[in-house]
Amino acid sequence: MNAPDNPFRFDAAVAAAADRVEAKVVAWRRDFHAHPELGNREVRTSGIVAAHLRALGLDEVREKVAVTGVVGVLRGGKPGPVVALRADMDALPVKEEVDVPFASQVTTQWNDQECGVMHACGHDAHTAMLMGVAEVLAGMRAEIPGTVVFVFQPAEEMPPIGEEGGAKLMIAEGCLANPKVDAIFGLHITSIHTTGKIGYRSGPLMASADQFRVFIRGSQTHGAMPWRGVDPIVVGSQVVMGLQTIVSRQVNIAKEPSVVTVGVFQGGVRNNIIPDEVKLEGTIRTFDEGQRSEIHAHVKRITEMIAASGGAKAHVHIHLGYPVTVNHPGLTEWSLPTLSRIAGEGNVGVVDKVCGAEDFSYYQQAVPGFFYFMGCTPPDKDPQTAAPNHSPRFYVDENCLKLGVKTLSGLSLDWLAANSR
Ligand SMILES: [Zn+2]
Ligand SMILES: [Zn+2]
Repeated sequence: MNAPDNPFRFDAAVAAAADRVEAKVVAWRRDFHAHPELGNREVRTSGIVAAHLRALGLDEVREKVAVTGVVGVLRGGKPGPVVALRADMDALPVKEEVDVPFASQVTTQWNDQECGVMHACGHDAHTAMLMGVAEVLAGMRAEIPGTVVFVFQPAEEMPPIGEEGGAKLMIAEGCLANPKVDAIFGLHITSIHTTGKIGYRSGPLMASADQFRVFIRGSQTHGAMPWRGVDPIVVGSQVVMGLQTIVSRQVNIAKEPSVVTVGVFQGGVRNNIIPDEVKLEGTIRTFDEGQRSEIHAHVKRITEMIAASGGAKAHVHIHLGYPVTVNHPGLTEWSLPTLSRIAGEGNVGVVDKVCGAEDFSYYQQAVPGFFYFMGCTPPDKDPQTAAPNHSPRFYVDENCLKLGVKTLSGLSLDWLAANSR
C-alpha cells in the first residue's frame, strides 16, 4: 500500500494530527501575542518553545542559539536526509490597536526609546504553528524517513543597534550544520491574501535591503554671501536628483526592478546660514545580487562626483542589510503539488515580488530553501484594504493557522520521503 514515494501516504495522519493540535496552536499564538518580545529579547517565548520541544521528546533541544534562538532535532525512525523548518519569534516596536482580549499591553525600551510592543508581523503565529508542526511530526516519528530540524529564530526584524542576531547568527552558531541540513522551508503570514490562500514565487521573491548614509561637507558661510563658502544643501539636492538616475537610467530594469530612496535630508539651523554639512540617508532594494553591488557603486560614484563638481566632499557609507530572498527554482517547483494537494488547487498562486526583505535569505544562500506566503485576512474582508503587516491594526484570522501546520508538515514529510533511499 504505502510505497516509499507515495506522496499521499502521510496526508490522512497529518490532517488528523493538525485537527487535534489546532486549539493548542491558537492558544500558544494568543499567549505569545499578549506577551510579545523584541529581537534578541525573546526570553519568555523561547523558554516556552524549548519546554514544549522537550516535552515532545525531541532528540535534541539547543537553547540560546543566536542569543535567544532554539533548535530542536527530531530523528525519524527510518533513515533519510535532513530537512529544516524555520519560524521567527520576534515582535515589533508598535503600539497595538487591535481590539482582541489578548491584545498586547507591553511597553519597553527600544534603542533608548520608550515604545509599545506588538506582534504586528505575525511572528507569534509562525512560532505557534511550528510548535504545532513539531507536535504533529513527533507523533509520527517512527514513520519519518529522515530528520527534521526546527529552527526558532530570534530578531528577524533586526536586533537592537550594536547587537548581532537573526538568521545570519543562527547559521554561524550551527543551526544548519549539526545535523547537516539539506533543504529548508519557511512561511510568512500576510494581510494581502485571505485565509486559505497561498502565494509563491520561483527565484527572487523578496528584495535585498541596504541602507546608505551620505555626509556632504561644504564650507559654512553667511546666507547672503554664498560665494564665500561651499553650499552643501545645493550639492546635496543635486545628489538626491543624481541618485534618481540610477534606477531610471543605469540599471537594466528589464531584468529586475530596484528602488533607491532618500528618506533623510538633514542640514542647517537657520535661514541665513549656509551650513558646513548635510546628511542624507536612504535605502536600496534589489532583486539581483549583481545589480545590488552595481547600484552600490553607482551611489558612491554619483555622490562623490557631484560633490566634487560643487567643490564639496562626500563620504558614502553603505550598510549591508538582508540579501535577496531567492526561492530555489527546483525546490519551488517540487513544492507546488504538495501545497496544492493540501490547500486545494485554486488556493495556490504566483505572487508579485515584494520590496520588503527577509533574513530567510541567509538560509537560502546556504542550502536550497523555499519561502511562501499564507493569507491571514478573514475571508469576508478585502485584503486590498486590510491593515498590512507592521500596522498597529494588523489582524490575524486564526483559522489560517491549521493550514500552516499542515503545509509545513506536508512539505517536510514529502521532501524527506522523496529524497530518502
Ligand atoms: Zn516584519
Ligand atoms: Zn515578518
